[in-house]
Amino acid sequence: MKKQFAVIGLGRFGGSICESLSKQGMEVLAIDTNEDKVNRFANVATHAVVADSTDENTLKSLGIRNFDHVIVAIGDNIQSSILTTLMLVEQGVKHITVKAQNDYHEKVLNKIGAHKVVHPERDMGVRIAHNIVSKNVLDYLELSDEYSIVELMAGTTVNGKTLIDLDIRAKYGCNIMAIKRGETIDVSPSADVSLLKGDILIVIGADSDINRMEHALF
Ligand code: ATP
Ligand code: ATP
Ligand code: CA
Repeated sequence: MKKQFAVIGLGRFGGSICESLSKQGMEVLAIDTNEDKVNRFANVATHAVVADSTDENTLKSLGIRNFDHVIVAIGDNIQSSILTTLMLVEQGVKHITVKAQNDYHEKVLNKIGAHKVVHPERDMGVRIAHNIVSKNVLDYLELSDEYSIVELMAGTTVNGKTLIDLDIRAKYGCNIMAIKRGETIDVSPSADVSLLKGDILIVIGADSDINRMEHALF
């Protein structure tokens, strides 16, 4: 059976989630208080309804507890976001993802039982900053305060060299998890594979180690 999602709040964030889920063939109920926005998503989502998610009876009549995953993408109105989340938790929704506006908002959401809190503006800012600082960093995923996964573009310094030549794990404490070359991805590269300029290396390690390696080799 198809997974059923509900997206509450059809701003840029909620709207893009809604579109992407629909494109992936999921069943999506789109909810917003704003009729214009709901109309805009009538052809995108499976169903689109005008409703106020802070109204408990409305949520019940939509059968919100039967959805596999509910995304709360209410932006500026933090009070509505918190109240909505609380009622979803009370009604026993299995997966609740909420967009946080700031750190305090995030803290409250975690306390009241949101299963996942996302911070798209902050996280995207961090990723873009990494991109801007080093032109070889293509993408960046923070695993914790200290550890990350980064995508690095191989340049002339490493061209023609093997992982053994570069001795990456021993010298920098980082692990190359995969190498993308054009359309092919080698997910457990052997130590004697030669790197080529333009290869994309997916590297996991401590931020300080990744930084050292980046400066020395990329
Ligand atoms: P984004 O940055 O994703 O564009 P935003 O952070 O600017 O969004 P808002 O525009 O404040 O967020 O809110 C997103 C949507 O949530 C709006 O379309 C708004 O109408 C809707 N919304 C706000 N409160 C409720 C509510 N109680 N029930 C349903 N929808 C709501
Ligand atoms: P180690 O004792 O470091 O695990 P090893 O005895 O398993 O090394 P090889 O697997 O042949 O020897 O690798 C030699 C060196 O090549 C490693 O010490 C490491 O520095 C580097 N290396 C090999 N594979 C990777 C990888 N996936 N990511 C980073 N460095 C690698
Ligand atoms: Ca916003």
